[in-house]
Amino acid sequence: MSVSERIRRIRTTLPEGVELVAVSKFHPVEAILEAYRAGQRNFGESRIQELAAKAPLLPADINWHFIGHLQTNKVRKLIGHATLIESIDSERLLDLVDRESAAAGVVSRVLMQVHVAEEDSKFGFTPDELLQYFSERRFERLQATHICGLMAMATNTDDPARISADFRRVAELKARILAAAPDLREFDILSMGMSDDYPAAIAAGSTHVRIGTAIFVERDYDAKPSENPTTHTPI
Ligand SMILES: *Cc1c(COP(=O)(O)O)cnc(C)c1O
Repeated sequence: MSVSERIRRIRTTLPEGVELVAVSKFHPVEAILEAYRAGQRNFGESRIQELAAKAPLLPADINWHFIGHLQTNKVRKLIGHATLIESIDSERLLDLVDRESAAAGVVSRVLMQVHVAEEDSKFGFTPDELLQYFSERRFERLQATHICGLMAMATNTDDPARISADFRRVAELKARILAAAPDLREFDILSMGMSDDYPAAIAAGSTHVRIGTAIFVERDYDAKPSENPTTHTPI
């Protein structure tokens, strides 16, 4: 099956209102172009250098979602180049994104990454930290950043009950945040669900699923992003 066939197949399983973010990290521009020709416009990347190498070789109307851990020294490179920064995992990072966005004269749209999984290694705010952040209305300090919702990953496990419980917890957190700050505007994105668990995420209320493997199959972690624009067919 080709990339475009897999994309079409996945789309038929998504309810109306659920957006597909095709996670193209470690995949070459050729694969991204194939997805683009199948109508895909939202793509997810997790490394600044890779995004910076690939984006100029690809159509300008692609919406890039940044989904990886963002190091503070790379923030400036990203500002203005991502439709949505999904992986804000600390207040320090958020404030820096805000300062750099203001300096660049743009408004950045971001999601707060919530840590609900059992693993210690995952980045993100705890649900309590986020509830406190919004209850104390610290978002009012932001000048050039709009928080559009939450992003999360479920525990990496084969236990479907655990995965569903993680997703439900994030959906409940969003409701609690909105109850604590009812005047929040356009705080409506719940980005959760990957290749192996997206149906459970949708059942819990996900609005954006981030799917890589099920579209592009195996990632080649050794591949370098193509640097020669002539190696792909122009649109
Ligand atoms: C890689 C990645 C995905 C996609 O995972 P797949 O299992 O390949 O679908 C989704 N979200 C984040 C944050 C990722 O890093």
